[in-house]
Amino acid sequence: MDMKAMAQGIRNGDRRALSRGITLVESSRADHRADAIALLEAVTDPDRQAVRIGLSGTPGVGKSTFIEAFGLQRTGAGQRVAVLAVDPSSSRTGGSILGDKTRMDLLSRDPNAFIRPSPSQTELGGVARRTREAIALCEAAGFDVVIVETVGVGQSETMVAQMTDLFVLLLAPGGGDELQGVKRGIMEIADLILVNKADGAMVGPAQATRADYQGALRLMRRRDGDPDDFPKALAVSAVSGAGLDGAWEAMTTLADHRRKTGHWDRTRAAQNRHWFEDGVRQGLMRRLTADADTRAAMDRLGDAVGRGETAPAAAAAEMLARLFPEQRD
Ligand code: GDP
Repeated sequence: MDMKAMAQGIRNGDRRALSRGITLVESSRADHRADAIALLEAVTDPDRQAVRIGLSGTPGVGKSTFIEAFGLQRTGAGQRVAVLAVDPSSSRTGGSILGDKTRMDLLSRDPNAFIRPSPSQTELGGVARRTREAIALCEAAGFDVVIVETVGVGQSETMVAQMTDLFVLLLAPGGGDELQGVKRGIMEIADLILVNKADGAMVGPAQATRADYQGALRLMRRRDGDPDDFPKALAVSAVSGAGLDGAWEAMTTLADHRRKTGHWDRTRAAQNRHWFEDGVRQGLMRRLTADADTRAAMDRLGDAVGRGETAPAAAAAEMLARLFPEQRD
């Protein structure tokens, strides 16, 4: 494969090239990996930035309905929108909560939208890398908005927050956090809470839920440098479209503010550094465990730690002494 040509195709906004590029970064084959790295390097352009939005919510809260309505509104305003899904369920069940092709039917036919269902899980720790690299390719393809959707059960959200600019939590009217299956940690990373289904008989309950969450957010620590009224809670309806403009306005207000204060660039720089170090860490572990003796020693010490015969710290020290006999911490 010619990575220069693929990179050019992606930068020209060619959807087929983008699809193929994402398939390539999703692959764990060693030769594909080398190509993927060359591709990512070739498309890197700090001047092309999308607004990266992490969007989380438990199943049934209206994520796909919201993304479709919100996405169509953005494309209607002349923007290009990409949607990526992170589905932690696929590793265990083989099925997928988010990957369903019938979701977002209208948006998927919009020429200014690109929807990529989540791949089936193959390797541990691979989800983060693949998602981040898919975001990078969408950004290189000139999308203005990249939405990364997660199911809101807790595993993926912190990871997605490490690769996005804004984090949005979608909730349904009524019910406390526990009823809605929302983990406190997700509330803490949310920049914006949207209480969906604020239509018909649900307008009142949605407004009440919004007020409850606004109160809860006020008790949480504001992120350094953000405007006083963030994180904030709003009521929206993905079905009627009510509040969708306001949601976008809140996102741009926060994004503009962060750009102005330098927070935006600092966060992205810290994220890049995090993923660089993560890549080194993962690569080191892969190389270490590729050696049969090392893997056997890891297993043996792991078992000893599991049985309580060896303290974790002692086992780690023994492993490191074995790997680096010349060095002492
Ligand atoms: P997801 O599982 O989070 O992607 O949720 P869906 O988008 O599939 O929506 C779940 C159900 O809620 C569907 O029956 C939708 O029609 C309904 N729904 C989604 N958004 C709204 C809304 O704004 N108002 C109302 N009344 N129903 C909604």
